[in-house]
Order: sequence, then C-alpha cells, then structure tokens
Amino acid sequence: MTPPTLLLHVCCAPCSTHVIDELKEEYDVTCYFYGPNIHPEEEYERRAEESREYCAGQGTAFIEGEYDVNSWLEAIKGHEEDEEGGERCKICYRFRLKRTAQTAKNMGFELFGTTLTVSPHKNADVINEIGVDIGTQAGVRFLEEDFKKRDGFKKSVQMSKEHGLYRQSYCGCMFSKR
Ligand code: SF4
Repeated sequence: MTPPTLLLHVCCAPCSTHVIDELKEEYDVTCYFYGPNIHPEEEYERRAEESREYCAGQGTAFIEGEYDVNSWLEAIKGHEEDEEGGERCKICYRFRLKRTAQTAKNMGFELFGTTLTVSPHKNADVINEIGVDIGTQAGVRFLEEDFKKRDGFKKSVQMSKEHGLYRQSYCGCMFSKR
C-alpha cells in the first residue's frame, strides 16, 4: 500500500532528525523548511542549508519556503516584548503552520505536520490545537503529535551529535536571541 504523503514543517535540522525517522515508517515525508522568524539572515541561511544537507543525506525530499521576514514581523507586531511561550509564540506557530498547510494543499499532500513539538520548551497541546484549526480551514489534515514523547528530544540530541549538526542556542527570532 502506498504511504500517505505528509508535508513536514521543519524549524531546523536537529529537531528534524528523530521526527523524520519516526514518520518515515508510516508516511511519504517531504520536509518543508520555513523560518521567516529566524534572525539574523545569516542564521536563517545556516539553518536552511544544514536542513537541506541533512535531508539530502537521508534521501528525504526537501522544499525551502520563502524567507518573508517582513510579513512575520507584521504578524507579531505589538507582541515584541511578550515572554517566550506566550502570545507572540502562538502567533508565530500559527503563521508558520498556516503557510505549511497552504503549501500542502496547493501541492496535493494528504497531511501536514511540524517538528516543533520535539522541543521541551514547546507546549504540544498549544501547537496541536493551532494545527488542527488551521488544517480545518485549509482543508488538509494536521498530524497531531508530541514528538518529545518516547524520548524524542533525547534521541534528536543524540542523532544531531552523531551527524555533527549545528545546534543553535536560541529559538529563532531576535527577541528570543536577546
Ligand atoms: S521565541 Fe521562537 S516560537 Fe516564539 S516568536 Fe520567537 S521564534 Fe517564534
């Protein structure tokens, strides 16, 4: 039987390692690197390139989204000073997942998902709720998951070390870098 096609939003190569391994057992996975939140641009390029190379090494299809920083900054306007994990992050998840869902729909994928829940700093319930809502609006199913479970985060750290991947010390935006 042909596995269902899944467009996986990827925030960085380290977070994608274990997630790709888990998902490729059941799905035909294509990674979608989309990070208009990432600052500065050199950091974006570094994460995008690392992700592209990792996918190439794994034989996993890879698509890079648009680096539309200005649209992202407009979306989070008024929430620059919010604490990490607060309202700004919810807007940021929604922004990235919405574009992923639209891309999945336009390209004919059966599902979309995200690597975001592998991070111990991110609340999977919040991300899943946003993903389901966006999926309903876009007409493509969101894969609800919490990839940090089953030692997911630990495994992603181990795999990143094994592959010599660059692991950043901040989430991505200029506010988290501060
Ligand atoms: S801290 Fe991370 S999730 Fe929150 S707004 Fe910044 S980049 Fe987005």
